[in-house]
Amino acid sequence: MPYVITQHCCNDAACVPVCPTNCIHPTPDEPDYGTAEMLYIDPDGCIECGACLDACPVGAIEPDYDLPQGSMPFLELNATYYAEPEKRDYEQTPWEEPGVRNWSGEPAAAAPVRIAVVGTGPAANYAVQYLQAQRGLDLQIDVFEKLLTTGGLVRFGVAPDHQSTKTVSDSFDRSLGQKGVRVFLGVEVGVDITHAQLAERYHAVLYGVGASQPRRLGIAGEGLAGCIGAPDFVAWYNGHPDQRDLEVDLSGERAVVIGNGNVAFDVARVLAAGDDHLGGTDIADHALASLRASGLKEIRVVARRGAAASAFTTPELLGLKELLGDRLLRVDDLGPEPAAPTALDSYKWDLIRSLPTSAPAGDEPVVVLDYCRAPVEISGDGRVGSIRLARTAVDPASGAVTVSEEVDDLPVGLVISAVGYRAVPIAGVPFDDARAVVPNDGGRVIDVDAGTTTPGVYVTGWAKRGPSGVIGSNRQCARQSVDALLSDLADGKLDAAKDATDVPELVPHAHGLDMWRRIDSHERAQGRGVRRPRIKLVDPADQAALTAP
Ligand code: NAP
Repeated sequence: MPYVITQHCCNDAACVPVCPTNCIHPTPDEPDYGTAEMLYIDPDGCIECGACLDACPVGAIEPDYDLPQGSMPFLELNATYYAEPEKRDYEQTPWEEPGVRNWSGEPAAAAPVRIAVVGTGPAANYAVQYLQAQRGLDLQIDVFEKLLTTGGLVRFGVAPDHQSTKTVSDSFDRSLGQKGVRVFLGVEVGVDITHAQLAERYHAVLYGVGASQPRRLGIAGEGLAGCIGAPDFVAWYNGHPDQRDLEVDLSGERAVVIGNGNVAFDVARVLAAGDDHLGGTDIADHALASLRASGLKEIRVVARRGAAASAFTTPELLGLKELLGDRLLRVDDLGPEPAAPTALDSYKWDLIRSLPTSAPAGDEPVVVLDYCRAPVEISGDGRVGSIRLARTAVDPASGAVTVSEEVDDLPVGLVISAVGYRAVPIAGVPFDDARAVVPNDGGRVIDVDAGTTTPGVYVTGWAKRGPSGVIGSNRQCARQSVDALLSDLADGKLDAAKDATDVPELVPHAHGLDMWRRIDSHERAQGRGVRRPRIKLVDPADQAALTAP
């Protein structure tokens, strides 16, 4: 009886090297790792030793005899990955993570090696962990975070009903608390301290700042009240200080979510789920109150391609289906069947095809998966009132989407565009505005004017590769960037003398990690009495007012 990987797999592959029979795939060196929706256990290779279960940072692995009812489909999903013969053709010897180098005694010129890490989300934290894993390297890591809380996307991006995913932050907080790490909270690089000041004081500056701004649709009416970018909406329900006053009007009967990636699904689920589902989570109180008073009857998730090209992942569809049951439906045609599908593509297609096409009338909101339609205009008198959706056609060769003249005008009270995230430029750091990332070569930041990389400046995570992948995808991404940094170090490119002792004087208002620990324990204590993981403090003034016990 095998172990099974379930919905909240974070893809960080910590389970892979500990498996004695190498039966968890794809491994990070296999070609489909970068695009894999999750990792899968071969039921015929698993010897039920439980090593993967102990290694998984988010509790996503379960023995099949103990699977909760809602996770039963993952038995078949894990097995489906291995339905293709070549997927079973792996070596039985365990996959080994590339070893870290032993630095004892070198590089003497740079000791201690001073590294500034900007950000405390998954990208930055996986980088810190990999730096700390180096043997014999005399390191001083200073971490800068503009908020008083750590965690970045884990706190403000992961949906409140995905609590197990958030447990990954426990190991991040442990790393930030280690000897050799100083944390400066409430310090915005580019505002409170400049990039040039960091570059002067540190052998290397590594940016792991994520991507927090919405990508725009670029259609008329997008600026109307009631049309909100998903990054802002997600930050609102997760209690991000910058979005705590966002105006979210849920009094209308219909919300339209544009795009059908996992963010669109998070948004749709939060809008549709009732108090029973969200009331016991760490959703921000202001969002919970608004959702309780919601008048929504329909949440329409609109995709410009057909169902075979759905951007959401199968685990998330299984989760939504489990939550909503027959209230989830799909109207109109699904679009063309998948061409040359893999076993996993067929599984996903069959799952979407099996959804009902109509829903029983009722008071509870219905989620509609709407395909082959793209928004062309949003209109309303001062605020969103209707959205025009046009039928689309997709060129099978190029994948290009064209809109037709066939349009529908739908009355709508809320439009959320979940069409991607953009990184925010940092003064003094190169920025590729078209791709909305920091231009880089494998993590080395490129000086666009000179056309070369700048030794000592690195980037990782969504600011490096764009907004793709799940939390754990940042682990391999961070390894690549840190490896670039370390090889520059070994090549003597980061040898100049550096002194960062005056940094606390440059940012006298900064708080240390103890500030976050106070917020964390206060929030958890507040949640305990009402059976919630925490009650978030969303006002930085309230956070800063928490004094040491
Ligand atoms: P995404 O997966 O890239 O989806 C973006 C969606 O927006 C696609 O459906 C895309 O359609 C659509 N889109 C883009 N431009 C559009 C336009 N002009 N008009 C209409 N539609 C447009 O991005 P995401 O949902 O923001 O997620 C970002 C990453 O975070 C993903 O890797 C996701 O898996 C991950 N994530 C994971 C979880 C989870 O595991 N629970 C939760 C949240 C996010 P096309 O395909 O046609 O371009």
